[in-house]
Amino acid sequence: MKFGEKPLQRGDKGANVEELQLRLAGFRGTIWDGDFGPGTELQVMTFQKDYMNMKTPTGIVNGDTFAALDQFAQKFSIDFEAIKCPCGVCDGFGQNRFKNKYQAGKSETEKTEAFYRYEYPGIHKAILNSFKAAQFYASQTGYDIPYPTSGYRCWVNNEQKNRQSTNHMGKALDIDFPLKPTEDKQDDCNRCNAVRGLLVEKCGFQIGWSANNMKALEPADIAPTWIHMDVRCYSRKYLDDKYFIKNNQELDGHL
Ligand SMILES: [Zn+2]
Repeated sequence: MKFGEKPLQRGDKGANVEELQLRLAGFRGTIWDGDFGPGTELQVMTFQKDYMNMKTPTGIVNGDTFAALDQFAQKFSIDFEAIKCPCGVCDGFGQNRFKNKYQAGKSETEKTEAFYRYEYPGIHKAILNSFKAAQFYASQTGYDIPYPTSGYRCWVNNEQKNRQSTNHMGKALDIDFPLKPTEDKQDDCNRCNAVRGLLVEKCGFQIGWSANNMKALEPADIAPTWIHMDVRCYSRKYLDDKYFIKNNQELDGHL
């Protein structure tokens, strides 16, 4: 049964529930475990209330909600050219190198995503769908629509730029807003701070990386004039290769 062919509701399990959880990654957000529990129901009700303007959200995904999910996915479709790796060597999303390899000199307890050298095969669906929700909530709140400033950065690009960060090998996206002629850097910082607050409130992000299995934003002292979002706090099973994709077809399934 394809996604959209059968209603989904609390108690359902399986691949279509997982697809739903990923589609709604930026509406509160839960882990994508294929189990439709209270967290998934809250995601659905948040989407119904905020995006569909439903007065009494049902928490049940039926024809109207499936149609709205597709409309939302298409309205905020991703410009993959803008988020490809700029190195000029890889295909835009790394070369799938360094599986199970960590930065040199790390102890067993430091073998975490922050030091994991793997070039994931694309960008994680939860990050891309959260970016869609960020665009929706920003525009709904009266901001311009944010655009991506940095997506995939493979090890070739790291060497070109003399950096060691592993965060942008599929797990992260940086976004920003156009600066108006009348605005200065402080205005830019203020807006990024305000939007980070909005993303915490609406999309279920944390600021910093203290909680497991939660989407993260870099704090303002690291990212003053842009917004960095990532999924590096997730357990490895939620960072399986199958979640990392390279085009809108893979992101939105049957669309
Ligand atoms: Zn590259």
